[in-house]
Amino acid sequence: MPTDVTLIPGDGIGPSITDVTVRILDAAGSSIRWDRQSAGMAGVAQWNDPLPDSTLESIRRTRLALKGPLETPVGEGYRSVNVALRQAFDLYANVRPARTIRPGGRFDDVDIVLIRENTEGLYSGVEHYIRIGDDPKAAAESVAIVTRLGSERVIRYAFEYAVRHSRTKVTLVHKANILKFSSGLFLEVGRAVATEYEDRIAFEERIVDAMAMQLVIKPETFDVLVTTNLFGDILSDEIAGLVGGLGLAPGGNIGAHAAIFEAVHGTAPDIAGKGIANPSALLLAACMMLDHIGDAGRASRIRDALSATIRDGTTITRDLGGTAGTDAFADAIIACL
Ligand code: NAD
Repeated sequence: MPTDVTLIPGDGIGPSITDVTVRILDAAGSSIRWDRQSAGMAGVAQWNDPLPDSTLESIRRTRLALKGPLETPVGEGYRSVNVALRQAFDLYANVRPARTIRPGGRFDDVDIVLIRENTEGLYSGVEHYIRIGDDPKAAAESVAIVTRLGSERVIRYAFEYAVRHSRTKVTLVHKANILKFSSGLFLEVGRAVATEYEDRIAFEERIVDAMAMQLVIKPETFDVLVTTNLFGDILSDEIAGLVGGLGLAPGGNIGAHAAIFEAVHGTAPDIAGKGIANPSALLLAACMMLDHIGDAGRASRIRDALSATIRDGTTITRDLGGTAGTDAFADAIIACL
């Protein structure tokens, strides 16, 4: 039985990395039936809407999406469609694995999975200016909302992920020494959930600033990390940097009723249309999706072919130190498969 998946090619380099990802999945024999939909600037061009109803309807039906990057105007225009999708489908856990693929980089044995709370914290969208006298923007306020329910479900997801993937340790990252209420509640809930797993999974706590430093000094000592929205956003890009940059960083947005997989990077407007983008991050996101639907064997074959192609180094994209274009890189991965 084919699995129905909503495919959102996205903006900038999105359509080209999506095309080759679909080609590689086909070559690996996956039985996915794609429902192509638009969002972001492509949604505006087609439907005058960055998040068209037809796209939402498709995800409601398939409960699964593979999404290319979407352009978000800075400071003005429509709100981030990525944030809107996470909120619309209550995709509370953002899973970002980072694993060394290329030998000879700064770190040879990084294997970290960061799980970020994806719907609340400082990204809850509760923001406003405060007028003082005749200055309408004399002050600004962004409210960090942390709930017991939101904390518990993402922390439990992190422990369950650790159990399912034979991991050994969960590190909770916080700033409860200063943010005694919001970060404090997240930590309190984390300590309580950790006791339920103490015979199987080790638990430790780190303050976010110390964590940022330790990640660049001894990243090999970390396993699964769990943290609130803003800290997770920043630290996940940091761990992507430890293993070769955004071109290799996938992400999954997981909820109880739907899941959306994507590359962590953006639309790369500086290289869009040049045929040189690295499709690895989206391909690795597609592998996370295959794991999610129980097709782990195929996911691991594709990951192996990608790793072998990158290690061989003959046909890799420029950001990885080679000269190949997107299509040639994909052909090399398919040959390896
Ligand atoms: P970006 O990730 O698009 O680009 C940063 C740098 O990394 C650029 O030099 C780019 O060329 C390079 N790069 C990124 N992906 C690459 C790839 N696959 N292969 C080779 N090089 C790659 O970040 P940005 O420039 O800050 O953002 C551009 C747009 O993307 C903005 O509109 C932003 O809002 C959007 N964005 C979307 C998402 C998403 O949809 N998930 C995530 C981040 C940014």
